[in-house]
Amino acid sequence: MGRIVLEQVAKRFGDAEVIPALDLEIEDGEFAVFVGPSGCGKSTLLRLIAGLEDVSGGRILIDDADATQMAPARRGLAMVFQSYALYPHMTVRKNIAFPLRMAGLDKAEIERRVQSAAAALNLTDYLDRRPGQLSGGQRQRVAIGRAIVREPAAFLFDEPLSNLDAALRVGMRLEISELHKRLRTTMIYVTHDQVEAMTMADKIVVLQAGRIEQAGSPLELYRAPRNRFVAGFIGSPRMNFIEGEEAGRRGAFAIGVRPEDIALSREPAPGAWEGVVGVAEHLGSDTFVHVHETGLAETITVRVSGETPCAHGDRVWLTPREDAIHRFDAE
Ligand code: ADP
Repeated sequence: MGRIVLEQVAKRFGDAEVIPALDLEIEDGEFAVFVGPSGCGKSTLLRLIAGLEDVSGGRILIDDADATQMAPARRGLAMVFQSYALYPHMTVRKNIAFPLRMAGLDKAEIERRVQSAAAALNLTDYLDRRPGQLSGGQRQRVAIGRAIVREPAAFLFDEPLSNLDAALRVGMRLEISELHKRLRTTMIYVTHDQVEAMTMADKIVVLQAGRIEQAGSPLELYRAPRNRFVAGFIGSPRMNFIEGEEAGRRGAFAIGVRPEDIALSREPAPGAWEGVVGVAEHLGSDTFVHVHETGLAETITVRVSGETPCAHGDRVWLTPREDAIHRFDAE
């Protein structure tokens, strides 16, 4: 089990109100990702759930039990940190078994759990090695193994991949996703990286200044962002925003259109935005074309197929797909 419910959870540090009051439900077995810019309160929220910080208000329920005042160790959650401290003189087996030895479990039970964690993490062949004989990714897996053996109600990950190089990050991202599919245990994962959020989450929780801007599946957030912040945060390259004033409507508004929802033509097209290519970024599969001089305030980014010939200085005409235009109140 691992259903986690936050009711009006608030956190202040002195005078600073980091989390005003927030409601959130994470279902049993769900992979929830907290994402948002640096300082928005992601880690604080995770630490409140873990019990590493006390709430300033509200309640935290874990499997229907009020855990608000529970000591961290009693919550049945396992935290996996960014920097993984393994004991260098111990074998992988002993490192993974460590929390169970501390808890005083018997030998047979410890061995059963270590074997099962090692199997889930493809570490079975490495159990007799020491951390110094492992790659960075394998060491990260041992750290996760140490959390798995405790058979927690949920795993909490605080930016676990931010110390790894780009290639390793992608590999570990897939491994954690696969691990979730295998274990089906609730996971809460903190990251500032929207690609990690999109690729790993069942539910993305977008935070800004301690508030939930939107919570939903990756595709819900992508297709139907509730506001301009979410629209700009989810998706890469970023959604294009065009400011406007609407007759008969008070106040300014903005429209948003994603780079893949704009057609690019080299011939004049009726009603199109005419502009000049600044930079065309060729990624192979796709090309990101940044278009200036359209008469709009912002550079417009268009995503076209990698085959599309396009270069600096080309004159182009852009037509947004009518049914893919989002409307937002101006900021
Ligand atoms: P994130 O994980 O999204 O980068 P944090 O949760 O670490 O954000 O921090 C949110 C805000 O709370 C920041 O403004 C940070 O400076 C502040 N904060 C975090 N921990 C403490 C603390 N122990 N004391 C005072 N302020 C803190």
